[in-house]
Amino acid sequence: MDEMNEALLVSEMPGLNEDQIRQFINYYNMLIDWNSRMNLTRITEPNEVARKHFADSVLGASLLKQNARVVDVGTGAGFPGIPLKIVRPDIELVLVDSLAKRINFLKEACSAVGIEAAAVHARAEDAARDPKLRESFDVALSRAVAPMNVLLELTVPFIKVGGCSLMYKAASVDEELGAASSALRILNCRAEVRSFDVSWGTRSIVSAVKLKKTDGKYPRKAGSVEKNPL
Ligand code: SAM
Repeated sequence: MDEMNEALLVSEMPGLNEDQIRQFINYYNMLIDWNSRMNLTRITEPNEVARKHFADSVLGASLLKQNARVVDVGTGAGFPGIPLKIVRPDIELVLVDSLAKRINFLKEACSAVGIEAAAVHARAEDAARDPKLRESFDVALSRAVAPMNVLLELTVPFIKVGGCSLMYKAASVDEELGAASSALRILNCRAEVRSFDVSWGTRSIVSAVKLKKTDGKYPRKAGSVEKNPL
């Protein structure tokens, strides 16, 4: 296997400094090492990881205000939260995933990379009912977790009024947005789409801004959210 190197990282993410390059290389090495023992990602080639995991994750960096409190829901191996924390060390990051073994990886990875982030082992449906987490974040992130109508119910309860749910999506989001219109209405959100032309195509980040508090009945119990989306 080829190694991750500075040239690859800088070609995808031009403004990186020496510390950030070292952090991304450490993260890559941890990812590949742990991936040989557990299923973290199918993407393992250095150039593909640099593009489709690292550079893709940092696309949202300009959408985060200074010192934002951020939760990454269904973070898996740490995407997009960890790359964003590397390029935006000012943010406060909480990583949430329902798989315990991924949380073990995330804790080790954060320590190897040298970043501070809390890693919470829980389903979003339960974590969003924890008073320390509910309506306490400026931003909820999600990538490759669920369709938008499901994601809104899993992420919006975490954010404060005025905060936003940033959902990383493929280029064409019109159909998903259409299917999410009642979830947006019920959860009191207004969505806008940001498109990014990148070396591997076009990516969209849908930003759903929360206009009013979330009714206490959301998110519903695990199972209902996916089976019967709003
Ligand atoms: N966000 C990562 C990425 O972009 O590579 C991981 C995507 S992976 C396909 C989906 C992840 O979401 C898995 O790690 C899974 O355990 C987690 N997940 C799915 N539903 C969840 C829920 N309701 N609450 C918390 N985590 C969830």
